[in-house]
Amino acid sequence: MGKLEEYKRKRRFDRTPEPSGAPEPVAGKVQDKPSPSAKRTRLPKPKLPQLEVRPGAEHGDTFVVQKHRATRLHYDFRLAIDGTLKSWAVPKGPSQSHADKRLAVMTEDHPLDYGNFEGKIPEGNYGAGTVMVWDRGTFHLEGNLDALKQLEKGEIKFSLNGEKLWGSFVLVKLKQSEKGNEWLMIKHKDAAEDSSWNIDEHDRSALTGRTIEEIKEELPPKRQPIPIQAAEVQSARKGPMPSRVEPMLATLADRPFSDPHWLFEIKWDGVRALARIENGALTLRSRNGVDIAQRYPELASLPETLAAREAILDGEIVALDAQGHSNFERLQERMHVRAPSENLVAQIPVVYFAFDLLYCDGYDLREAPLLERKQLLERLLFTTERFRYADHQLEQGKELFALAEQNGLEGIVAKRADSPYVSDRSPHWVKLKITMTVDAVVGGWTEARTSALPFGSMLLGLYHGKTLRFIGHVGSGFDAKKLKELSSRLKELSASTCPFDAVPETNEKPWWVSPTLVARVKFSGWTEEHSLRHPVFLALREDARSTDCANGCASAT
Ligand code: MN
Repeated sequence: MGKLEEYKRKRRFDRTPEPSGAPEPVAGKVQDKPSPSAKRTRLPKPKLPQLEVRPGAEHGDTFVVQKHRATRLHYDFRLAIDGTLKSWAVPKGPSQSHADKRLAVMTEDHPLDYGNFEGKIPEGNYGAGTVMVWDRGTFHLEGNLDALKQLEKGEIKFSLNGEKLWGSFVLVKLKQSEKGNEWLMIKHKDAAEDSSWNIDEHDRSALTGRTIEEIKEELPPKRQPIPIQAAEVQSARKGPMPSRVEPMLATLADRPFSDPHWLFEIKWDGVRALARIENGALTLRSRNGVDIAQRYPELASLPETLAAREAILDGEIVALDAQGHSNFERLQERMHVRAPSENLVAQIPVVYFAFDLLYCDGYDLREAPLLERKQLLERLLFTTERFRYADHQLEQGKELFALAEQNGLEGIVAKRADSPYVSDRSPHWVKLKITMTVDAVVGGWTEARTSALPFGSMLLGLYHGKTLRFIGHVGSGFDAKKLKELSSRLKELSASTCPFDAVPETNEKPWWVSPTLVARVKFSGWTEEHSLRHPVFLALREDARSTDCANGCASAT
């Protein structure tokens, strides 16, 4: 019996919009003639490529879960195996929780393009009701046997990389099953396991963003379908892996903006690295072309974390602080160490934030629109503690900038959503930096190089407990009026001893004051020695107490 015979026997393709499972579309011949009523019920069909099964499933074949509101609501779980969709009806739906062992009733094989079907099956037809593409992605087989052998044995193990389902699962056939078609679907315990899983919190189509009710009402799709394979990406070019790619660089802008043609990412402050995966091996190419993979042994598992055999990713290696912010000072303790000890790796582990995909399994994606490259990357990367997908906000740059400010982040990057990847500085990538401010204690001043000025700079510090630690000197941001005012305030407070825990090194002669004045200063970041980078004086904070100026009070504005 042909694999799809049962599927075809159950359906009348002149009465349902479901795919007919015809072997090959024959030119000039209409395969399925929808009745006028079926035609009317059809959605404006999203342009979707056919699902395909490729030989050698090492980089993941397709899986689909369809939410099917028929006589009874259920979820149809389907794996693309041996040219068809092997299918199970899961009454309660799949679960990310190990505790839920879901009954899965094996049903007839479905044609591959059924995986793209979302819409209504008219009354009177088999399975009449509404179908949603609830989840879609790729799966990897686990275990040594091939898929058909595992099915035959009644136990198939696989890991999923979908929008909703991910991580390792098993389907086990129940031996006591009378009809021989009852299986259990179980989530293995792994990083993806979620004991608080509630399927009702995941009620939108992975294909069109619609709820089952919105599909029933035939409302238009809420989003464009997402590519799941390199070949599906618009403008993907078949070709060999480029031997060397220079990174695309951003230009600097000073004002955040919102624009429907742009997407916005958090700016991670670390070391830029193009990751190249080839035959299971990884190279990490820095901006100056050096392979720095050996410096970051914890990133060596990237090839196993990406559902692709060959790929070039763009991203940033960062060290995170306790708040999850990238911390460049922390990373500096790693970036020059060629062979870090296990201890150092444990103390300052790094994370790779992948934000672009330039090449994937035989396809050069550099001409493709950024948004599609990112969507494919998100699909292919199994995110873990070590490897993160740098997500973005569409259109709302001002909002993301404000959020970044509130969270004390360094800035954001704006990228034109349809832009190709160019190995050059580009106006299509724009850095938007948040300036930081700090309220610091004035502990002294230095003489000016010229006698025309009352002082050269103010010496600043922050309290660590009771000790005042020097954080740098600010010598700009003063006009003539401010200089005069400040100079008289400083002279009133003059003191004979240095208020800092250690006498700071200064170019000009220092004078000390009693540490009561508070200065608000803007600056661009911290140096390795925890000094202010590019500080500029803004104002005296008459409302602030100097003893409140403690380390960690720096804020972004
Ligand atoms: Mn069904």
